[in-house]
Formats: sequence, C-alpha cells, structure tokens
Amino acid sequence: MSAGARPVRAPRGPELSCRSWQTEAVLRCLMNNLDPDVAEDPDNLIVYGGSGRAARSWECFDAIVATLRDLADDETLLVQSGKPVGVARTHEMAPRVLIANSLLVPQWATWEDFWELEAAGLTMYGQMTAGSWIYIGTQGILQGTYETFAAVAQQRFNGSLRSRLVVTAGLGGMGGAQPLAVTMNEGVALCIDVDAQRVRRRLETRYLDEMAGDLDDAVRRCDLAREEGRALSVGVVANAAEALPALLNAGLAVDVVTDQTSAHDPLSYVPAAMSLDEAARLRESDRDAYIRAARASMAEHCRAMVAYQERGAEVFDYGNSLRGEAVKGGFEGAFAYPGFVPAYIRPQFCEGRGPFRWVALSGDPQDIAVTDAALVELFPEQRSLHRWLQLAAERVAFQGLPARICWLGAGERHRAGLRFNELVRRGAVRAPIVIGRDHLDSGSVASPYRETEAMRDGSDAIADWPILNALLNTASGATWVAVHHGGGVGIGRSIHAGAQVVCDGSALADRRIELVLRNDPATGVMRHADAGYEAAVTAARERAVRIPMLGAS
Ligand code: NAD
Repeated sequence: MSAGARPVRAPRGPELSCRSWQTEAVLRCLMNNLDPDVAEDPDNLIVYGGSGRAARSWECFDAIVATLRDLADDETLLVQSGKPVGVARTHEMAPRVLIANSLLVPQWATWEDFWELEAAGLTMYGQMTAGSWIYIGTQGILQGTYETFAAVAQQRFNGSLRSRLVVTAGLGGMGGAQPLAVTMNEGVALCIDVDAQRVRRRLETRYLDEMAGDLDDAVRRCDLAREEGRALSVGVVANAAEALPALLNAGLAVDVVTDQTSAHDPLSYVPAAMSLDEAARLRESDRDAYIRAARASMAEHCRAMVAYQERGAEVFDYGNSLRGEAVKGGFEGAFAYPGFVPAYIRPQFCEGRGPFRWVALSGDPQDIAVTDAALVELFPEQRSLHRWLQLAAERVAFQGLPARICWLGAGERHRAGLRFNELVRRGAVRAPIVIGRDHLDSGSVASPYRETEAMRDGSDAIADWPILNALLNTASGATWVAVHHGGGVGIGRSIHAGAQVVCDGSALADRRIELVLRNDPATGVMRHADAGYEAAVTAARERAVRIPMLGAS
C-alpha cells in the first residue's frame, strides 16, 4: 500500500538508514529531488523541466525506497522509467543502481506515442537529472548559464553586460537561473513568465531581484537600471508569445534575446491569450487543439526573436527546442539564430569541460564551504573558478541538501573527487559527499538541437556516444548510472547519460572516483577529437586521453 503524495525530505546527518553510504547516497538524492524546496511540482513527482519525474508513481517511489534500504553492496537495482523492476547479483565495484528512462525504439520516438505509453502506465519522462536523481535545484544550471552569458559578453560586449538589456522568458526550475546569471555578469534582465507563482518562487530564492506590475512597469525599471549601469533582474507575468512581439512593436532596444520556457514539450508551453486555468482545461479536453495553439504561439514567439536578431540583437536558442516547435507551428525561418552550444560552449566541451556538481549528504552547508575552499587550493591558477565559487557562496540560496556546481574538465575532475574523498576520510566534512553531473556534458549526449548542433563532421545525430559513455561509467564503477531519451529538447530529439560516484572516504571509493572521473570527461574529448576539433586533439595529447586514430578523421 502506498501513502500517495506527501512531502518528502532526504535524511540528514551521519547516521545511515541504508546498509552503506553507496545506497544511502542514492536514497538521499532521490528524496532530495522531491523535496518541496527543490521540486517544481512534488505532489505529481515532477522535479523540473515540464514533466520531468523522479519516479513513475508513488507506489514505485515507495518500492524504490524500500529496495534501497535493504540493498547489499553486491547487488544492483534496475529502474525502468521510474519503476524498480529487478535486483541483480553483481559485485562491490558495480553500480548500485542502473536507470533507463523514456527510451523508445526510434520509429515510436514521438511525443504522441510517448504520451500513449505513459497513459498506459508503461513509461515516464525523466528529463535529465529528474529521473536520474541528481537535481540540485536551480543552481544546477546557474553556472552554465553564467558561463554562457559571460561568453556572450566576451564575444559581443567587451567582456561585461553592464548597461545591456537581456530579454528572456521562462522562470521555471532551470530558466529561473537566468536573472541571477545576467546580474552576476553585471547586466539587466527582463524575464517573462506566464505563471505568477513561478515568478514569486524566484524572488523567494533570490534568483530574481524584483517583480513588476506589468510589462510597461518592467521596461521602466530596466531602463532606469540600464541608464545607471546597475545590475538588476525584473520578472513580469505575461505570455512570451504576446509580450515579446509587443516589446518589438514598441521599439524597445534589446541587446540579447533568448528563451527558456518549457518549449521542448508542446503540452507544457502555455498558448497565447489563455489563462493558466483555461490552458489546463483545454489540455484535458482537447489535446490536439492545445498542441496546435501552443505551436502557433511558439511560432509567434520565435518570429519576434528572429526580428530582434535582424535588428542587431544577440539572439540564441537556450536548449529548449523553441525553434523546432516553431517550425511545426508554421514559422519556417525559425533556425535563423544559433543554439548556445555551437555559439558559446563547444570550445569548453572540446576540453571535456562541463557541469561537475556535488552534494553534501550531511545536509550541513559548512561541508560545502569546506569543499569550495578545497577547490580553490587545488586549482590556484583558475581565477574564474575562484570568482564563481565566491559569487555562488554569496548569492546562491541552497534548495534541499546543500550542493555546489562548477565546470571542470578532463584531467581535473578526478583530482577534485579524490580531494573530496580525502576530506571525508579525515572527518573534515560531517558525512560523505556525492559527485554527479548534468547530462548536458561534453561526452554524454547526442542532441542535434542543442549539445551536438552543427558538429564539424556532421555527426550531430549519432547517438553511440552517450551509450558508450554510460557503458564506460558502469565499467568504471560509478555508484549509479542512467541512460535517458528526450531530456532538454523533448522526445525524439536527444539521447543522453549521467553518472554519480560517492566519496565515502574508503579506499574503494578512491578507485571508483579515479576511474569514473577520469574516464567520464575523457569521452567528451574523444567525441570532439573524432569530430575533428583541433582543440580536442590538443586536449587529448595534453591530458593523456588515448585515441587510436588520433588525427586520422
Ligand atoms: P519548467 O517547466 O520548470 O519551467 C518552464 C517555465 O516556462 C514555467 O515557469 C512556465 O510558466 C513558463 N512558460 C510556459 N509557457 C510560457 C509562455 N508561453 N510564456 C511565458 N512563460 C511560459 O522548465 P525548466 O526546468 O525551467 O526548463 C525550461 C526549458 O529549458 C525546458 O525546455 C528544458 O528542457 C530546457 N533546459 C535547458 C537547459 C540548458 O542548459 N539550456 C538545461 C535544462 C533544461
């Protein structure tokens, strides 16, 4: 019998509720994903990203928890789209949990087929870190967003967004990082979201500075801040498909335009001229009509972005597939502006650099302060890392278990992991630490509208790479490994993988950490070297990543 929806909170402190820290870490991270301070809609098991779930049902959640509490260190739990389906006898170095989420045979990899199978209770949408249990709240995307806006500033505005206006939409779990990332880069952000509750949530968690009464009020506040060279973020409740064309028609000069509404899923994007209640009713009563309306609105939204680009603004897609849905809504010119990865991030991917994150299982924020300091000591030459860690310590409010993210590359991540394991061993932190990452990483994803858009050799849609990444992480002894379909950009558009490893202070953990955190980012270097990126070839040579046919592609 399941108790159904209820508030879930991960245990804190150094006491185990499972048989070892390997399983305790998985349990705490699963529960943390559903913590009301972390998840966007925990009653429905939705963590973030439209309908990205942690478990298929409350019954499945309870069964996963019960199995983890009892799982031995030579057993592996198999989770199929949020449902625990088997426990296998393995060995100590094997992962404790293996997860596959939302995967469909290619001919059936459409939203329509997915929804049918979901309604039949056979699958769930796992997004990226929702169904792989390593979501850490909006901070998870904050550094990537900060890095992206820093790259925009570098390429277009002499290194700073001071007195520059960024207009964007979507203040959800991930999109909510945008206002803080812009102000961390000294700019002014006008952020549109159709749901007042989402805007308020970002105010409460200090990601957003102010909430305006209406669009005119928002523009006035932003103009003033721009004139004064003051960093400011302003949220406003409006539909982006109406508000962005309105700003364009009013002649508002904008420097940067992007978007992070839940455009990957036409059932999550709210169509223009509809209240949230009206949208919910239409979604229930006539799904096809809803999808048509949503896609038509996305076409208008995207058309306004292209028009801003024509007026000279820096415009980029922020990984939600707005362009793809806009084409389906009848706007053929949607792909006029680039995705953020080819525009700003790929050079980092060539070095295996990506979102390295960790969680203090003790629940004690002081443990994160200790790890922050350890990284500064370990990488004394990395000035921008120091700046990020300082800004994060000052400005990021933790959601759920205290956690931190920073981008590290191949040859760096295992050093950080081994240092953290040493901190646990010495008792410098109160409990073990788990290290994980987003699936948005250099070697772990095939996503032609996002991470692998416009690859040099045309290999955008080759999905062997994330599978190799997951297999290698399993062989290397990650604590849990996940392979997903459809995260970020929606069903049919991506395949991706994630891996976590626990620092419990043991010698065995040293071995797991060294292998996983060496090999995982190395697959990013291999993937980009194979695609012909010189920077990746250089990184492979400098960082001892072995590639049999290096330079032959
Ligand atoms: P979310 O579901 O938590 O939030 C989406 C937000 O969009 C909600 O607040 C919703 O009210 C708002 N919204 C929907 N329709 C709107 C409209 N017409 N006008 C204005 N606001 C509207 O989703 P999230 O976790 O914030 O993710 C947002 C998108 O970004 C998703 O498509 C996700 O897949 C993608 N994503 C991108 C990255 C990246 O690195 N760039 C990473 C993760 C997720």
